[in-house]
Amino acid sequence: MNIRIFSLALSVLIMSPIAEPIAPIEPTLIIEDNGALDSITVEEYVARVVAHEVPYTYDEEALKAQAVAARTYLYYCLENNSHPHESRADVCTDITHCCGYITEAELTERYGKAYAKDALKASRAAALSTEGEVLTYNGAPLLAVWHASSGGYTENSGDVWLSQLPYLKAVPTPENPPVYSASFTLDEVAKILRTNGYIYNKSTALRITRTKSGRCHELTIGNIRLTGSKARSIFSLRSTDFTARISNGRLYFYTRGYGHGVGMSQNGAEVMAKGGKDYREILTHYYSGSKIQAIEKAGEFG
Ligand SMILES: [Zn+2]
Repeated sequence: MNIRIFSLALSVLIMSPIAEPIAPIEPTLIIEDNGALDSITVEEYVARVVAHEVPYTYDEEALKAQAVAARTYLYYCLENNSHPHESRADVCTDITHCCGYITEAELTERYGKAYAKDALKASRAAALSTEGEVLTYNGAPLLAVWHASSGGYTENSGDVWLSQLPYLKAVPTPENPPVYSASFTLDEVAKILRTNGYIYNKSTALRITRTKSGRCHELTIGNIRLTGSKARSIFSLRSTDFTARISNGRLYFYTRGYGHGVGMSQNGAEVMAKGGKDYREILTHYYSGSKIQAIEKAGEFG
C-alpha cells in the first residue's frame, strides 16, 4: 500500500513544475472505521489524529510537532507493514491497533459543536503547515512513538520494549508531570497477581530497581518479581515512573507522568513550545539524531 502512496506523492512532485494550475493529487489512504472502508487524504488523517491526541488549545508549535510525529508514524507503519489489516485498509481507527483518531461528529458528541470546529481547524492548520514532512533516521521514516507526559527524563525504548532504537533515547523533558496515587489491600494485590498467573505469599518485603532514567526497572513484592512495564500493566498504573510502599496492609503506588515514556512527551512539547521552541527543535530534541524531510523524497530514502 505504501507504494501507491509514494507513487502519488511522487506524481505531485513530477507535475509541480508545470506552470498551468493542475488540481493537486493528494496522497490518500484507505481507512477502516468500525469495519467500513473509506478513503481519506493523508493530511486529513493526520489532522484527526492530532485532534484526538492533544487539546487544540496547545501551542501551535506543539500541534505541529504532533502532526509531524503522527505522519511519521503512519509512513513508518506503511513502509514496514508493521500494522497489517485483513481488509485492504492502510490504517484503521482502532487505538489498540493503529493511532487514536477522532472525527468531527465524534468531537461534537463529546465536547460540543464549537469545540469540534475549533479543534479540527487548529489540527488541520498543524497538518497543512507541515504538509508532507516526516522525521527520518538514516534516511528512513522513524518509529515516532509519543506519550502524554514524563517527569525529568523520557525513557529508553530498550527499557520498555525489546529493542533499543538509537533515536528513542532517554532525554531531559522540561515539565512538571501530574502525580497520581493508587492503593490496593494485600488481598487485592494477591487477587490481581493470581489473575496474572502469580501466587503471592503476602510478604510485605518490597524492592524497586530503576532504569537510568529513574523509572521502575523491576518491582519485587514478597516472592513475586515483575518488570516495571508488567507492574504498570497489571496494576493499571499511569507510568513506570513510580514509588511504592506497603503500610497498614495496603500497597501504595505514587506515579509521575502518563504513558510509556518513550519518544516525544506531549506535555513536554507544549512546555517547550510555550518557552519559544519551534516544532523542529521540539522533534529533534525528543527523537535523537533525527532529521525532518519531505515525504516527496521518499523514493530517495535509504
Ligand atoms: Zn490498524
